[in-house]
Amino acid sequence: MTTRCAESPELVALLAGRRIAVLTGAGMSTDSGIPDYRGPDSPPSNPMTIRQFTSDPVFRQRYWARNHVGWRHMDDTLPNAGHRALAALEDAGVVTGLITQNVDLLHTKAGSRNVINLHGTYAQVVCLNCGHTMSRTALAERLEELNPGFLERAQAIGGLAVAPDADAVVADTASFRYLDCPRCTGMLKPDIVYFGENVPKETVAQAYSLIDHAGALLVAGSSLTVFSGYRFVRHAAAAGIPVAIVNRGRTRGDDLATVKVDGGCSELLVLLANELARTTTSLH
Ligand SMILES: [Zn+2]
Repeated sequence: MTTRCAESPELVALLAGRRIAVLTGAGMSTDSGIPDYRGPDSPPSNPMTIRQFTSDPVFRQRYWARNHVGWRHMDDTLPNAGHRALAALEDAGVVTGLITQNVDLLHTKAGSRNVINLHGTYAQVVCLNCGHTMSRTALAERLEELNPGFLERAQAIGGLAVAPDADAVVADTASFRYLDCPRCTGMLKPDIVYFGENVPKETVAQAYSLIDHAGALLVAGSSLTVFSGYRFVRHAAAAGIPVAIVNRGRTRGDDLATVKVDGGCSELLVLLANELARTTTSLH
């Protein structure tokens, strides 16, 4: 059944007294100012594919130039009331863990501890050849040295459009110098799962295990368009684990949901956390 945002008694009734695994998507972070390119009001976008990145040095140069400016915005972004509500529910022993499709680390920043970053995070960079990793902060320092003044010039242009993958629109990228792996000179890439890439098997197994040990799956802010998230709803439904979905607009998992609430995440999760705190004595 689908209910409107203000009425969530069915949601509370389904989740009360259960240990909850949570799956979150881009709709979770829109109230933190990170646009959801799949939301109902979103502009059309052309997400980068891994093939474009690996096969074209000019594309990579443009990518790193934009990312050099854009990633800071993501790094400065703060969690919202919805993130905090889920962290509080984990503290209370209600939420057992989070699987997120977001790379923004906002759940971790809000205090959630058991977080599975399904698509990686913006804060790390990995070598596609040897697997060496480095922090995005360390890479930023190197890129600063290679491109003195670039950041200031880009910021002077203004009009940055920040995308979910920390990309941003910057003109004049042809002179930008990017960095190869300091260990093997292989290709460095943000440690993010792009279109055309698979989520690492261990990560998927961890997420299935979280769901298998939960009494319910709550999906928050994902249209479940991408299979990497949708499969967990199918998995839960097949195992007889009830699924609740909170999302603005339709989702691919609506037919598998026991309860669907159409609305924004922050508002609903705060409401839910308050209700569950009231109705749940202790699950410890
Ligand atoms: Zn390497």
